[in-house]
Amino acid sequence: MNDQLKFITYCGLYCGLCSARARIPQQAQALRESMDREGYPYWGRTIPGFEPFWQFLEDLSDIDKACPGCRQDGGDPGCEIRVCTRERQVDICAFCNDFPCEKIREFAKTYPTLITDGERMKTIGIDAWIAEQEKRAAAGFVYTDIRIGR
Ligand code: SF4
Ligand code: SF4
Repeated sequence: MNDQLKFITYCGLYCGLCSARARIPQQAQALRESMDREGYPYWGRTIPGFEPFWQFLEDLSDIDKACPGCRQDGGDPGCEIRVCTRERQVDICAFCNDFPCEKIREFAKTYPTLITDGERMKTIGIDAWIAEQEKRAAAGFVYTDIRIGR
């Protein structure tokens, strides 16, 4: 797979703006560090449930264990958009002649930047588009901040 596409979903989201990669691991790591400074790894083990919690927090902190993106077995396994892009042999919906189709319009009710971001990608190209998403990521934005309805 083209490396450039690795963290762009079929529908046109950027995985670097998903809290599963861009916020939760960092917050989990910060909590681990605070708890570590407090000495939890030493005396916390007497607290029931501490061991599995500590292991979970360690796994959550590890970006390599976060969702790998929907091109690499992450995302919704039953996603119709993924199936459709494969059938139509387009890498990303934005490059489909029917974009934005009904499926995309429906999904954009939850992710309100989806269509304008897809149009922008088509206009400026994938490299420049990724650079813009990285700027958003550096400012601390994740999709959850504006996600509607769930
Ligand atoms: S699983 Fe489908 S809807 Fe979810 S991010 Fe991937 S392509 Fe988009
Ligand atoms: S028809 Fe819709 S879901 Fe299918 S590839 Fe085109 S834009 Fe994506």
